[in-house]
Amino acid sequence: MTEHFQIRADLHTHTIASTHAYSTIAEMAAAAAQTGVQLLGITDHGPGAPDAPHVWHFHNYKILPRKISGVWLLKGVEANIMDEHGTLDMNADELKFCEWVIASYHGSCVNFPLTKELVTQGYRKVCENPLVDVIGHPTTALFPFDYEPVLKLFKEAGKLVEINESSLQWKKGALENGKTVYALCKKYEIPIVLNTDAHYAGLVGKTPIAEQLLRDLDFPEKLIVNLDAERVMDMAHRKRGIVFTEETEKGEPYES
Ligand SMILES: [Zn+2]
Ligand SMILES: [Zn+2]
Repeated sequence: MTEHFQIRADLHTHTIASTHAYSTIAEMAAAAAQTGVQLLGITDHGPGAPDAPHVWHFHNYKILPRKISGVWLLKGVEANIMDEHGTLDMNADELKFCEWVIASYHGSCVNFPLTKELVTQGYRKVCENPLVDVIGHPTTALFPFDYEPVLKLFKEAGKLVEINESSLQWKKGALENGKTVYALCKKYEIPIVLNTDAHYAGLVGKTPIAEQLLRDLDFPEKLIVNLDAERVMDMAHRKRGIVFTEETEKGEPYES
């Protein structure tokens, strides 16, 4: 691994649409440009989170430009996994407005016994949802799961496993669990995505804790998909037909 690596796509960030985050999209994009991030994924919380935006937030994504401050935009969501059946807080009709879907467990959104068996079952079910691209921060102590078989299943199902800078810094147990999770990702060649989960513009594109963890594991760069923005743009194009041009999006007019 090289001395320092810079993610070129930051694919998990929050704006003031989630009220525990503090910057606008324009501020996030400007910060991304300064940091060398070429593709910014905006992924505010799905409506199951206590301070999430209304679903209209996602419906209206079409009005946003594809590029802000010279940075390509991917308009996504961090959906909440609500139970042990892998149910998300947005259905397929709602998710179709999103170009990048992270599925995460959060303590504020679940109401079932958080046993290893049930969390494992929930993650297995999430793998059956074709709209999910990424499994968000699977390292918190609150949500234990059977790492080895489930991580292998994520790979088989085409779900990227996230390494999340904010979780490693702030969530109990995440750093210790991360050493195990990403060692297994290396062992089984499971592609990962390295994100900041920035809740403030000044944090976009910066991943020192995750980088150190990966360096300690001698983690192969080729498994970190977002070191190359074009690799992610190609994935988004192949899966959802997203075209990265500066033309305004066209859509059907609607009654309201
Ligand atoms: Zn999260
Ligand atoms: Zn998040």
